[in-house]
Order: sequence, then structure tokens, then C-alpha cells
Amino acid sequence: APTHEMSNGVPPPRKKRIGVMTSGGDSQGMNGVVRSVVRMSIHMGCEPYAIYEGYDGLVQGGDLIKQMKWDDVRGFLSRGGTLIGTKRCMEFYERPGRLVAAKNMILKGIDALIICGGDGSLTGADKFRSEWPSLLQELVEKGDLTQEAVEPYKHLNICGLVGSIDNDMSGTDATIGCFSSLERICEMVDAVFDTAASHKRGFVIEVMGRHCGWLALMASIATGADYVFIPEKPPAPGWEDEMCQIVTSHREWGKRRTIIIISEGAQDTELEKITADQVVKVLTDRLKLDTRKTVLGHIQRGGLPSYYDRWLSTLQGVEAVNAILDSTPDKPTPVITIRENKIERSNLEECVKLTKSVATAIKEKNFEKAMHLRDVEFKEYFNSYKLTTSTEDPRMKLPKDKQMRIAIIHVGAPAGGMNPATRAAVAYCLSRGHTPIAIHNGFPGLQRHHADKPLGSVRNVSWLDVDPWVNEGGSELGTNRGLPADDIATTAHCFELYKFDALFLIGGFEAFTAASQIRKHRDSYPALRIPLMVLPATVSNNVPGTEYSLGSDTCLNTLIGFCDAIRQSASASRRRVFVIETQGGKSGYLATMAGLAIGALAVYIPEEGINVHMLARDIEFLRENFKNDRGASRAGKIILRNEQASETYTTQVVADMIKEEARGRFESKAAVPGHYQQGGKPSPMDRIRALRMSIKCMQFLEDNFAGKSKDEIMATEDSAVVIGIQGSQVLFTPIGGESGLEAKETDWKARRPLNEFWRPLKSTVDILSGRPKDTDCC
Ligand code: ATP
Repeated sequence: APTHEMSNGVPPPRKKRIGVMTSGGDSQGMNGVVRSVVRMSIHMGCEPYAIYEGYDGLVQGGDLIKQMKWDDVRGFLSRGGTLIGTKRCMEFYERPGRLVAAKNMILKGIDALIICGGDGSLTGADKFRSEWPSLLQELVEKGDLTQEAVEPYKHLNICGLVGSIDNDMSGTDATIGCFSSLERICEMVDAVFDTAASHKRGFVIEVMGRHCGWLALMASIATGADYVFIPEKPPAPGWEDEMCQIVTSHREWGKRRTIIIISEGAQDTELEKITADQVVKVLTDRLKLDTRKTVLGHIQRGGLPSYYDRWLSTLQGVEAVNAILDSTPDKPTPVITIRENKIERSNLEECVKLTKSVATAIKEKNFEKAMHLRDVEFKEYFNSYKLTTSTEDPRMKLPKDKQMRIAIIHVGAPAGGMNPATRAAVAYCLSRGHTPIAIHNGFPGLQRHHADKPLGSVRNVSWLDVDPWVNEGGSELGTNRGLPADDIATTAHCFELYKFDALFLIGGFEAFTAASQIRKHRDSYPALRIPLMVLPATVSNNVPGTEYSLGSDTCLNTLIGFCDAIRQSASASRRRVFVIETQGGKSGYLATMAGLAIGALAVYIPEEGINVHMLARDIEFLRENFKNDRGASRAGKIILRNEQASETYTTQVVADMIKEEARGRFESKAAVPGHYQQGGKPSPMDRIRALRMSIKCMQFLEDNFAGKSKDEIMATEDSAVVIGIQGSQVLFTPIGGESGLEAKETDWKARRPLNEFWRPLKSTVDILSGRPKDTDCC
């Protein structure tokens, strides 16, 4: 029905109506988009509408375009697929279909659309927007709508979100769904590992990606596959020889299993299709390997969205609503993208054009261009992966005077990604002729070194030692919280004894502290005058100089799995609140991000503390919430409390207070996942970033310090740095110096960065859960 009837010619003030749609192939995280768009729209004073079944819903109209209320999206965040449906719609390709769609939108009073889909869906969206004025004109000319009726809808605002498991859109590092899909693939490949190794078998695993090899390449990195076939970087005809040579050399190293990953769109440089069956035949015939094929198929689309996809879909949905509200007729249609850790608005038309140019470059057999257009990171990943499959190429070796002895140490608590990062560093060192040296059991291990024994705590490492660490959680080197300053003289003695040329520290705040201590003792101990490189790895993600630490993604995945399961356990009684205690030390990062990803009703963090007003307000909020919950979601509600949020209001106390105040209307339980949060196997994101960041660290050491004297090393603040993701960049930040991390970025007492990048997101968690603002209480 026409929604904004006029009375006496004066239109009533109308709320902006924003339609949200999922289109193209489904992907995990699409529901997160719908939830955040619906709730953010309501928060901003707009009226959200869901368009069911993609563009078909727009063309059919009627009940397929439905107003959404706050509670309609309850429970959406943790569901896979898309709950509002998706469909390929032939009518929308043609103007008459789009004409009907325009009419249906105006009849519902909608003039803004947020579309989550692949490049096809977004191309359609852009076309719709550019045609909009002419569509309205045609509707008036045909007499379908009056000039008066179309007048308020002269401008169509559109914003795109990229939902696709393939990660095939240019201009964004990740699409919504790609990391969940990668997780599914890695689970399957990890599962094949054991049987493959038991029987010394080969497995050829086909994954999705007709035009894009992102899933295949990242799965190969994350599982340490022996060889990969992707459409953008096809092997030349005769690839059989290269593949067999690599597989044979890996077998000679002692590998008991062979894993080959192939994109469904794999081809050679002559664009001849390469199939999984062909690869199986080559391995069977030439190498006499007992080889099996596994096609993962639609499993890759299914399952629960991972932490990253819940995070990405939620924040991109929020950004899309903001982009719609900022939009003016002269601005180009935006698409929400992500670069490293920064969510941005990009030009939709340009991103689509760039995406299509990759396909064209492949068709024209210009593979260099295809790799270049994909994005810088993709090429970097490919080269890094190649390096780990062949560490013995003599052309890669540096001259003797540039070769370094690089010591690797794990410091602090274990975190997912420490092992893959060590493996990657060792691979890089071996391929360049450096000597990788493992220090076992952290600084106490070094300080207790057994120089005279063959298996002391300081050992040279071989490729075979570390290759199986590709998907192992924890710390195979052994890690410890002990610090160099606990016995600095012995530490320096060992540096001298083993002739370390550089130290690579993988760990959390302790690793940072250790590097800082060594740096400060360089004046007294010349042996410590070597470059120090810190790669942050800690579930707490509290290292100055980075917005991301290895292990934090694994931890958040584990934590949201725990929350999902525990929430589900309340489905019988329905009226239960869980107060779940998260790790994180004095940093509220884990609690806040998990809160964002599961839709926690409240999050308590050390940075804000807990007080009695807050608790009273939240208990009142819980009462309201239970009152309004008419069975939309048969699950419990969750409050997250960081372990150090308050000394007085412990997790148990908070749970007891809620229970007491609920006066029987609902119950409350405390739950502490504890060390379970460190996770089992590292998440695919932690594995692939471990490779990329670790190799960047090695290159930095090599580029800046190979063959340099101690004086030259001491002359630069770059001789002690932290690698980190900062916004849209990966940067190396000096630890010392006037503007270094020690002086400017570190809250030593609270053991966290002074400026925590994620703090503004805390209010987003509150907005999306509907938690009243502080000022609304008492
Ligand atoms: P996926 O990455 O999963 O393939 P996609 O969005 O690219 O997702 P498509 O099937 O290409 O999937 O597009 C989904 C729908 O978007 C189509 O069914 C059609 O309705 C609409 N659409 C796609 N391309 C166009 C176009 N060029 N013009 C108008 N509408 C289009």
C-alpha cells in the first residue's frame, strides 16, 4: 500500500525506509548483515525492510518485502546461510523486471537498498541505481504511478556489501563468508591428514572457486599442502613434471602424506582445464602413490559463521547504514570493503570493473596481470606459499656474508599461530641460507642452556622438524613467561655463545617486554646488540603496535563456539542468563569482540569497570528483554565479563545478583571457559597470517641487517621493532626511541596499549543489543 498518504497536501514527516537483501550464492555471515542493518537502521531512526529471495522479492513485491522489527532478527548472528533467502532472478537482468521492482519499492515507500551479494548482484544494483530516474519517469508516463507519488523517491540510495565464499571481489581483502568457508575446508583437510599419513597416501582435494583461487591457495597455506592449482596462476603444460618433482622431494624429506589442493576452475597456461581426476592419475601412474580424490562441494558453504564473518558482517552492516544516510545524489554508489583491519567505503562500480578485469586477464592468458589485479596481498601469499614447498632452490640463497643466525623464541602463554609462524620463519631462513635456531622453553630455557649436551635448549632446526607444525596449536618450542632480565648476564652469555645475529620473539605482552628489556641492556652487554623482532601472538591481543595478534582469532572462534553451545543449553527452560568469564588480562578486547560476534546483552571490561548502577540497569534491561521475548529465540542470553573487570563483582557475584534480582522470573548461571579459550588447532586466519607476517619479519631483518656491523645495528631504532596490523597497513614500529612504543603507546601497569583501537566498538555492541545508555539509568 502507498505508505505516506498526504493529508491536506502536506506530507507527514516520514522515516527513511531501508531495504536489505541477500543475493547470489549464499554465504556464512549474510544473516549477520541483516541483523546489523535492521538494528542499526532502527537505532538511526529509520524503518528497515527485508526483501526476501533476493531480486525476485523486489520483482514479486507483496509479502516478499516485509518490515522488520528489532526482535525479528534475534538469533540471526549465529546462523549459517541466509534466513531471508536468495535466488537467481532472470527478470532483474532485463529493464521490464527492474521497472516492476522500482514500482514495488515505491509502493512500500523504500528508497534505499543495502545488497549483500557477489559481483553479479552488485552489478545489478549499480545498474538499478543509474536507471532509477528513467524508471520513475517511465512508471509515471505509463500511468502506473503519479508524479506526486514518485516525487519523494527521486533518489535511490544503494550500498553494496560483498557476500561470497570465493573472495573473488577486487578492492577488498575479504568477502563476507570466505573465512568460514576456509574454516570448513581446513577442518576437512586436517581430517584427511591422519588417514593419509597412516597409509602414506596421496589426496587430491577439490575446492570451490571457478574464477578465483583464494580458497585453494589459503587452504594450501593453512594445511601445508604440497602443491596447489589456481586459475590465476596456472602451471605451464608439462606441470606434471614439476608437481611430481616437488612431491618426490617432500617424500624424500620424510613426509608420509601428500596433499594436493585444486580449485574447481584450475587450468594450465593454455586454458586447458586440469581436473582432480587427472592429477590423481598422474600421481598414481608416475609415482605409484595410492591416491584418492575428495570433492568438498557444498559442504564449503555450510556450517556456522566463524568469528571473523560475524565480526565483519556486523561492522560492515553498520557501515552500510551510515553510508546510506551520508549518501547524496552526486556520490557514486559505495561498496563496503576491508583492508587489513580497516572497514572502508569504496566505489562499487570501480571494484566490479576491477573484478571483471581479472577474468578478462585470465581469458587473455595474461596471468601476471591477473595476479597483480587480484591484490598485492594475494601475490604475496602465493610467493610465500611457494617458498615453503621448495626450500632448497640454490637460486634463492644469499651470499655467505649476508647469511644470518636467527634465533626463534616463544614467550608468554601459548597462542594459536605460534607454530605455523615458526614453521614459516624456518622455511624462509632455509631457503635463503640463514640458520634458524630454536630456543626451547623461553628465556628460562635459554638461561638453563645445556651447551655441552646434544639436546640442549638451543638447537638448529630442520625443515622436517617444523613442517608438521602447520596446523598445530600451542607451542611446540615450549613457551614460558620468564623474562631475560631475570638473568640478563646468562642471557647475554648465551647470545654470545650461540652467535645469534638476530632474535625473533613470538608471543604476547611478555615478548614485547622481553624485547624491551634486552634493548635496554644493550649498553652493558655487547652480545645483545642484535636486531630484535616481535611478532605478537596472544589471545588477549594486548600488544602495543598492533591491532591483531596471532591466536586472537582462534580464541574468539573457540569462545563464540562455547557461547553458542551454552546458549543452546538453555533452550528447554528459555529463561536463563549466562554470565561468561573471558580471558584477556586487563584488556577488554576479547570480551568486547566476542560480545559483538554473539550479540551479548552486556559486556563488562576492565577499562570501564563494573558498578552497582550498571548492574541495576542491566538487570532491568534483562527483565524487559525476557518480557519481550515471545519465543523468537529459544535460547539463553549472554553477558560477558572479562576476568579482571572488577575485583568485587566477580563472575559468580554478578550471576548471583542477577538471580536474586530476577525474583524467579529468570535464572542466572556463571560459566568460566578458562584455558579452553586458547583453542585447539589454530584458525585458518591465524595460520595464514602467521605465514605472511613471519616471512615479512624475516625479510625485514634480512633487508635491514644482513651483513651489518653492531654499530650500524645500534644506529637505528628499527633494530627493535614490533610487526603489526595498524588500520589498513602492516607496519614495523620501533620499540625504543622518543616516539617508540615503550614511551608512547604502552600502559605498562595495565599491560595493554595506551590507545586501544577497538574501544569505540564497545558502543556498537551496546547499540546492537539494545542495551540502554549509561545516562538512561539511575
Ligand atoms: P555469486 O558470487 O555467488 O555468483 P553473484 O551476486 O555474482 O553471487 P549472480 O547469479 O551473478 O550471483 O547474480 C545474482 C542476481 O543478481 C542475478 O540472478 C540477477 O537477478 C542479478 N544480476 C546479476 N548480474 C546482473 C546484471 N548485469 N544486471 C542486472 N541484474 C543482475
